[in-house]
Amino acid sequence: MDHLKAKTSKCIFLDRDGVLNIERGAYTYQPSDFELEYKVPEALQNLKTLGYLLIIITNQAGIAKGLYTKKEVLACHEKLQKACGNLIDALYFSPYHPDFSTSLSRKPDSLMFEKALNKFNIEPTNSYMIGDKERDLIPAKKLSINTIIVNNATSQWADRSCKNLFEFSLILTQLAK
Ligand SMILES: [Mg+2]
Repeated sequence: MDHLKAKTSKCIFLDRDGVLNIERGAYTYQPSDFELEYKVPEALQNLKTLGYLLIIITNQAGIAKGLYTKKEVLACHEKLQKACGNLIDALYFSPYHPDFSTSLSRKPDSLMFEKALNKFNIEPTNSYMIGDKERDLIPAKKLSINTIIVNNATSQWADRSCKNLFEFSLILTQLAK
């Protein structure tokens, strides 16, 4: 009766480039180019303290294009995990690009989110997706996950906007009091 189990976990879903590491306007796959955004380890710690799972959902079409490999994606992830003391619970990445093959995992499609919701027994309405682009927010919104856009940007898909992940972590901490 697994499907009747109450959804008990809550999660912060995280886009990668532009949220966790600096968006360079080019594919980031060398760990030396993978530079953290403002106070990301502190932000992740704040969110973990509030009891959230931390799950990255990222498009990595450079793999389909032959620009880099899964191994390099994982090396960047390792760098982040070291910097934050292994706070990230899971990494989902979509290696596809529509020029080469169709996929329901690539954002703005929602398969990566659906897999994580199911695997970790996550209640979407208690969870958030943090992104810097509309394609990060669209699949989350479709699944009833709350949506946050960074860089103080605006979007019809965003429930609220904030400066960066660190500011968002402070807002949630305040709300939890
Ligand atoms: Mg991004």
